[in-house]
Amino acid sequence: MNRSTRIAALTVFAAVLAAPALAQTVKVTPLGGIDGEFCPQDRALVFEDPNGTRILYDPGRTVAGGGDPRLGKIDIVLVSHMHGDHAGNAHNKAPNSGTCAAPDMSVSAMPNSNAANIAIAKKAKIVTGSEMPPFFAAKLKANGGDPADSMLARFGGSVTVGGVRIATVTAMHSNGLDPDYIGGDLGKAMKDAGIAGDVGLPTGFVLRFSNGLVAYLSGDTGITADQELVVRNHYQAKLAVMNIGDGFTTGPAEAAYVINELVKPAAVIASHANEVGTVGGKARPGSKTEAFVKASKVPVHLPLSGKTMEFDAAGKCTAGC
Ligand SMILES: [Zn+2]
Repeated sequence: MNRSTRIAALTVFAAVLAAPALAQTVKVTPLGGIDGEFCPQDRALVFEDPNGTRILYDPGRTVAGGGDPRLGKIDIVLVSHMHGDHAGNAHNKAPNSGTCAAPDMSVSAMPNSNAANIAIAKKAKIVTGSEMPPFFAAKLKANGGDPADSMLARFGGSVTVGGVRIATVTAMHSNGLDPDYIGGDLGKAMKDAGIAGDVGLPTGFVLRFSNGLVAYLSGDTGITADQELVVRNHYQAKLAVMNIGDGFTTGPAEAAYVINELVKPAAVIASHANEVGTVGGKARPGSKTEAFVKASKVPVHLPLSGKTMEFDAAGKCTAGC
């Protein structure tokens, strides 16, 4: 081999070595109310790391308990805060029961929560921030699970589970625990008085996957300075999952400001619209979902239930979008 042949051979060799890393993507699959649509109660997403670790984010009311056949293996359950539409105070009987406009939420998950029931069924870890871990540890213990499977990632720190680094970040919202999770005389007295249990602050999450992709999951939040100072400047998130529902969280205009001016990711997945966001898999004209798509400067991917999207380390959707 002369010198140029050797260099050419080395180049091919290097490309072969690099190819698997370049091809590694994080798969994101929404587990919403109706296949192929983005519906009012949809929050749940499954993230699959290239190494096979599977993470369920905010199961809410559209995952039909631990027996939902769409779940498959789940290693980690993330809960941003304790409100019923995130932890899951109730859920559908089965995927695609009810309609997009009128979701089935007929199965109670009280007093455990859908999140705790799924974690027990899947022998998964539950990772939360703030003061939520003792709550979930108690639910695991009371239902035959291992309380040590409830893990803490408090603001500023992180835990690594299954090769995925998990940190919690600021969410400006509320996090009162419905007294029905407490039950008994105490739960009843609290309910009669109109007060909720204290499990600390709500959170968002930042996940760093093994292919290098950093994703920001907003949880329920308003606009916060940390979206720039922490999520963008420190963690350098390239993919965002952003709540657009308004009233309870950022609406489409506020969410677009967060994306365009503060987090500046390469792409965003809309979430938590509290409306029929799509018809036939396309943004419904006049919807908040459509307004967010128009206002965002980066590609907006709609979380169509059951449709897997793949993202590379740079936050670019490489398949399924
Ligand atoms: Zn909430």
